[in-house]
Amino acid sequence: MKKQLISTSRTQTIDLAQHLAGHLFNGCVITLSGDLGAGKTTFTQGLGHGLGITKLISSPTFTIMKQYHGRLDLIHIDAYRLEGLHQDLGLDELIGTDGVCVIEWPEQIPHLIPAEHLAITIKRLTEDKRQLTIESTGSAYDALLEVIQ
Ligand code: ADP
Ligand code: MG
Repeated sequence: MKKQLISTSRTQTIDLAQHLAGHLFNGCVITLSGDLGAGKTTFTQGLGHGLGITKLISSPTFTIMKQYHGRLDLIHIDAYRLEGLHQDLGLDELIGTDGVCVIEWPEQIPHLIPAEHLAITIKRLTEDKRQLTIESTGSAYDALLEVIQ
């Protein structure tokens, strides 16, 4: 299933993600695609709020992975620098096992993305306007998509 919506502000993107977070389940996987500055980390911050994470969620570009504790743990992966890296970092053991796993730049690690997941693509339309395309694979993720208006 697929939905498309427009966000007209950073706050609206955060609110949307925060609402979605209330419905996330243990072991779920969300991918975030889009250019630098599209709003992938901003969306993740909204998920964090919704999961009751109080720590500031920053871009994990230089660390690849950060884990935060909340109602469900949030595992935030930024695969930007992983292109062509075939070394096993143990990410496969993290993704889709425990907590909520959010992956920025999933295109860099296609072999590690489970078949069933929620795929979000953010496109920058103007300074403050973003188009979000949200696609679900599998019944659990179809149900998640239902809560997004
Ligand atoms: P990415 O992780 O995709 O590189 P970031 O989330 O770090 O992007 O940055 C997105 C930037 O765009 C932030 O400075 C944010 O305030 C700004 N922004 C402006 N409008 C929006 C919007 N509608 N949704 C999300 N971010 C927005
Ligand atoms: Mg980012």
